[in-house]
Amino acid sequence: MFQAAREPSFPSCTVCRTDLQARENWGCDAPLEVPLMDVECVRCQGDGCERCAGRGHVEIDRCPWSIVSHADRVAVQVCLVFLEYGTLPFAGGLLDQPGAFWDAWHVVARVRDADRAKDVPK
Ligand SMILES: [Zn+2]
Ligand SMILES: [Zn+2]
Repeated sequence: MFQAAREPSFPSCTVCRTDLQARENWGCDAPLEVPLMDVECVRCQGDGCERCAGRGHVEIDRCPWSIVSHADRVAVQVCLVFLEYGTLPFAGGLLDQPGAFWDAWHVVARVRDADRAKDVPK
């Protein structure tokens, strides 16, 4: 969800920064009446919890880029550097990293794995 889209209808954070029609279609500036997509709940991983009202998934009703904070974006970048190069964000070893880093890493790794699974030829 943080990379360029493969299909033109999928929200692409690269496109919506400059394409006004895409901004309107993807709800960059206001939530849409019909959700863009459903995603598995990252807290319960589909089992159902209070965050997703027991459904196991959450509806995204606007551009993902427009609803994440700057801190979220930094956390994602830090996680991607770790996944790509193994560079830890804080001094020390694995056990010296804060819990918030591992929480973010868990989510980023799951999204990356799901993206990779889509790329496997059938
Ligand atoms: Zn957008
Ligand atoms: Zn849930």
